[in-house]
Formats: sequence, C-alpha cells, structure tokens
Amino acid sequence: MKKILDGMMSTMNAVKPPRMTALRELHEAETGGPFSILIGTILSARTKDENTAKVVRALFARYRDARELAGAKIRDVERIIRPIGFYRVKARRIIEVAKIVDSEYGGAVPEDIDKLVGMPGVGRKTANCVLVYAFEKPAIPVDIHVHRISNRLGLVETKTPEETEQALMKLVPKRHWLRINDTFVMYGQNICKPVSPMCGVCQIRADCRFYQTGMAASGSSSRPASRPRGGATAATKVKFS
Ligand code: SF4
Repeated sequence: MKKILDGMMSTMNAVKPPRMTALRELHEAETGGPFSILIGTILSARTKDENTAKVVRALFARYRDARELAGAKIRDVERIIRPIGFYRVKARRIIEVAKIVDSEYGGAVPEDIDKLVGMPGVGRKTANCVLVYAFEKPAIPVDIHVHRISNRLGLVETKTPEETEQALMKLVPKRHWLRINDTFVMYGQNICKPVSPMCGVCQIRADCRFYQTGMAASGSSSRPASRPRGGATAATKVKFS
C-alpha cells in the first residue's frame, strides 16, 4: 500500500503539487479542533473544497464552539454558509449537531463511531473523517474518489462505498489507514478523475487493473467488467505490507 500511496504523491508532485483537501486544511489550521472538523465534514458534502474551507472559517469566526452555534439563529447561519450547496438543510443540521454536542457531550465531540453516526446528517464517511482528521484514529473514510480509485486499481470489487470501506479494512494494514482518504481524494481530484483519468502520467499504472486491462483507453466505466488475465486482482488475492 505504501508503494501505491507514495506513487500517487510522486505523480501529483511531478504534474502539479495539489492543493490540500478542505479537511486537511481544517486539520492543519490552528483553530481546527474536532468540532470544526465535524461541522466542516457535514458542510463539505457535495460542495467544492475551496468553498468548504472558506465557509468553515467564516462560521467559526462568528461562533467559536458548539454552545455558541447551538444558540445561533438559523437565518444567520444560512447567510454565512450560503456559498455552499444545500445550505438551508445544512444550516438546520449543523445547529442540531451543535445542540447534541453541547447538551449530551459537554461540548466535546465524541471519539466513538457509534455516537457520531447517531447524530443527524452524520453517516459512516463523515464519522470516519472525524476520527481521522480530528483525532488521528485509524479509519478509512470512503467517498466517491476512494471508492472509484480502489475499484479501478483492482484492490476491491465493490458496488458501494460502504462495501469498499469494509473490503479495504480487511485488506490494508492499519498503519496505512490515516493516509488513504487524503491521498486518494487528492488523486481523484487531480489525476485519476472520474472522466478521462490521466493514466499517461500516472506512476502506479503498472499496478492498476483499469489501465492494464485497457479500460482506460476504451473510455469505459470505472469498474472493469472482467478481471485481467493473471496477476493478483481481487481483494482476497492482494496482500499489503
Ligand atoms: S485509472 Fe489511470 S490514473 Fe487512475 S490509477 Fe489507474 S492508471 Fe492511474
């Protein structure tokens, strides 16, 4: 796995050093505590990274913690987060989450996946992002990029992000988990894009089933219809060190 992750970073640096993902940016920020990462992850759903980071900064300049956000007026929150998609729904959701964090957890985001997924608008991907980016706990948040690239590479053969998460957890040693989301998301945004992946510059194409089976050249979908002849391809056959 290290070879794949290093190959992705090396490709991106050779082509054009990528900008940080919104969650990495929040993680690195001095003000990036667990609560801002939880709220940032909820806000980031179906919106551009650059919008998310900007909006989260503006939101936390006005409301410093869960208690302040819990007491916010919905109209004020809507006005601040308006640049991102679905801002009305998300405004309601983040105020509800702030109320739960404040009243049930004393203002501290729980480090427990079951408690996190019990909050409104928090699914496994969001909860896993909080574990990774807020607490540096090993988890594999699977979004569309992680799902697509894992299937293209032939690491997994799955239909949903949930299946991909389970398959990757079985396949990849825990010590690599913290790097997967960040690296795959940047790779999916910059190199292994949903349409027209840049296979010509990709330094891991020798390990990529999508490329090796000629699916990339044929412009086919992200999931190869059949396994290539020879070589380790299915999740159960691949071993990582
Ligand atoms: S599909 Fe292309 S860009 Fe994506 S990992 Fe495979 S070779 Fe690299």
